[in-house]
Amino acid sequence: MIKYNLLCDKCNLTFDSWFASSREFDKLKKKKLINCHICGSLKVDKSLMAPKLMNKSRSQTEESKNINKYNKIKKTIYQYQKFIKSNFDYVGENFAYEARSIHYNHKKRNKGIYGKASKKDLKELKEEGIDTQIIPWVENDHN
Ligand SMILES: [Zn+2]
Repeated sequence: MIKYNLLCDKCNLTFDSWFASSREFDKLKKKKLINCHICGSLKVDKSLMAPKLMNKSRSQTEESKNINKYNKIKKTIYQYQKFIKSNFDYVGENFAYEARSIHYNHKKRNKGIYGKASKKDLKELKEEGIDTQIIPWVENDHN
């Protein structure tokens, strides 16, 4: 089934009508079986509005698909963050300092740590043989 928005050339009425296929529409039109609901005119044709509307809704679908994709990734990151938050201690800007104190002073911690570090910090830590991992982080709107 296909829905066409039809426009009457005589009285400018627009109305929706269902057809089995676009071929059926052409066939009925040829046989003069499509006429205006109001004035009965046979000068009824597919409205030019219809394809425009279809394009618009298609791009909207595309857009919402991208949003869905983004939300899915965001959700995965959130789940990851949730895991880290409950299994690691947040040390914020002190990450490099805390990482060193664990490494050098054998400071005991029940949990691992996570926090913010600059690229320079990470490079220096790596050179000192301290393992770090960079993870994607999304600021949580709910916090
Ligand atoms: Zn009409």
